[in-house]
Amino acid sequence: MDEVSLISNCFFVLLVIVLCILIYFLPAIIGRKKRDATALATLNLLLGWTLIGWVGALVWALSVEAAIPQMSATAMPAANPGLCAMCRKYSRPQSLFCTHCGQPLSVYHLRISS
Ligand SMILES: [Zn+2]
Repeated sequence: MDEVSLISNCFFVLLVIVLCILIYFLPAIIGRKKRDATALATLNLLLGWTLIGWVGALVWALSVEAAIPQMSATAMPAANPGLCAMCRKYSRPQSLFCTHCGQPLSVYHLRISS
C-alpha cells in the first residue's frame, strides 16, 4: 500500500466517523432552538445508543412546542391593587382615588377596573 492510498483511507475513515457522530447527534442538532434543548441533548447523548432513545429524541426534536401563554392587559387579575403614581402606595382594589394622598389613580387602573 503506497502512501497516497494510506492517506486517502485515513481521510475516508475520518469522514465516516464524523458522519456517524453527526447522525448520532441529529436530534440534538434539530432541536437546538427548543426550550428543552439541554434535556433533549442529554437524552440524545445518554440514550441515543439505544435505538428507541435515538428515535424518541428525534420525535421530540421534530415535535411542535406549545406556545407560551402570554399575559395580556385583559387577562390581568380583577383585583388590581391600585398603585398610586404619586406616593407609590397601594390603595384598596377598585378604588378610584388614592387612600393615602387623594390623587386619582392611573387611567390604566380605571380602564381595567370598570
Ligand atoms: Zn397616593
